[in-house]
Amino acid sequence: EKGNAAGWKLENSYADLPKAFFSLIKVKPVDSPELVVLNHSLAESLGLKAKALESEEGIQVLAGNEVPEGSVPLAQAYAGHQFGNFTMLGDGRALLIGEQMTPGGERYDIQLKGSGRTPYSRGGDGRAALGPMLREYIISEAMHGLGIPTTRSLAVVKTGEPIYRESQLNGAIMTRVAASHLRVGTFEYGANFAEKEDLKALADYAIERHYPDIKKDKNPYVSLLREVQKRQAALIAKWQMIGFIHGVMNTDNMTISGETIDYGPCAFMDTYNPATVFSSIDVQGRYAYGNQPPIAGWNLTRFAEALLPLFHDDQEKAIELAQDALSEYPLVFNTAWVKGMRCKLGLFNEEEADEALILDLLKIMNKEKADYTNTFRALTLDDRKFSLFVYQDFQEWEKRWQERRKRQPESDKESKDLMCRHNPAIIPRNHRVEEALEAAEEGDLGLMEKLVSVLKDPYAYSTEQEEYSAPPPPSLAMSYQTFCG
Ligand code: AMP
Ligand code: MG
Ligand code: MG
Repeated sequence: EKGNAAGWKLENSYADLPKAFFSLIKVKPVDSPELVVLNHSLAESLGLKAKALESEEGIQVLAGNEVPEGSVPLAQAYAGHQFGNFTMLGDGRALLIGEQMTPGGERYDIQLKGSGRTPYSRGGDGRAALGPMLREYIISEAMHGLGIPTTRSLAVVKTGEPIYRESQLNGAIMTRVAASHLRVGTFEYGANFAEKEDLKALADYAIERHYPDIKKDKNPYVSLLREVQKRQAALIAKWQMIGFIHGVMNTDNMTISGETIDYGPCAFMDTYNPATVFSSIDVQGRYAYGNQPPIAGWNLTRFAEALLPLFHDDQEKAIELAQDALSEYPLVFNTAWVKGMRCKLGLFNEEEADEALILDLLKIMNKEKADYTNTFRALTLDDRKFSLFVYQDFQEWEKRWQERRKRQPESDKESKDLMCRHNPAIIPRNHRVEEALEAAEEGDLGLMEKLVSVLKDPYAYSTEQEEYSAPPPPSLAMSYQTFCG
């Protein structure tokens, strides 16, 4: 029997679902695994010992060479709409090794990404490159620091094996931690490729795991749609508020838990422009910044379609129930967004005209090509040297805003504190992420460690964060492109 110095405490509730939803996998050892980065604070919160994870035995697990006691490694089946087209997918390069039970009694999926071929790999090699795995590590941890629900990154190991893309790259495996990996696409798979009773088992499982309070509802499946809709609306509103562009909002990349998942082509917007797209494959701008809210609505409609058989035996009644719930989405999203934007402007109470005040600022930012993050940073710091302050339309807007702030009982200080908590001083600027990744690929992890460290609390407004607040030089900003990795 193997030692378990790291403190793995794995359960496998997903493996109790109907067989259609997964394939059991034999792990495929890699050559000479080497730890690149380990997330100590996350390890601790999972009840894992960092020291033991860093040891030779610990790394064997993070590389998928060995599984901890109690692990039932599997690849999950799912389908999804990719850029609007329905297709079969599944974990083509990932392995769920189990669910870690934390000291607090919480359950987190532990997934190895880049761990080798599975029955769902299609033409792919099942492997991942070091750069994209480190990129996911940096950005998902930054999202966590920003207070946005997200999957997290426990570790990245180099496999010691080359992988082949346009050039030869270092192979790597990332350990992803998630509330679960249930996706809208898992339900689409259940609806299209499994039996109705399997779909029902999946829905009951999702409810038990993420929304136990709705179990007793009159129609728990309609409640499930509403709850996921609420969480996704809240999530997308948060993305919008920090200028995060996911880049590949396919239905297989939308979680049931409401966590952000899949950090392939994502990036943060510098200059405010709703049409911003970074992903090289998103030529139509389907997943542009400004399209994220309606696309989430589109994805939720696919979720509702998958759930229809569970809503009602009479299809017409089922559709009616779905439409009733889905029709609430625009208001649910907008309410979450306006509420968040009020905080960004230091507003506590609500006035009818607040939305117009917000939209008018965005209009000016768009026209004057203002940096999104730094506009709110400048408002927070009252930094009159910021570019926007020279424009007359902005000056008029600022007068309205200051008057509006006076129409609330809270002090200037309280208002400013609220803004500090909602307007990050820094975001993972694309050029800083690239610079850190370039160095890391050359074996120098210093820049990456520093970047991850300053992004731990992006609302700190500390002096060491200042140098990270500068937007990229325009030449870099113009040409920035992301890839699926
Ligand atoms: P994504 O674009 O990251 O959401 O991935 C879409 C699908 O492609 C998922 O089913 C992945 O498992 C699969 N996939 C991506 N890269 C690979 C790879 N290198 N080998 C096998 N499958 C892959
Ligand atoms: Mg994906
Ligand atoms: Mg991906």
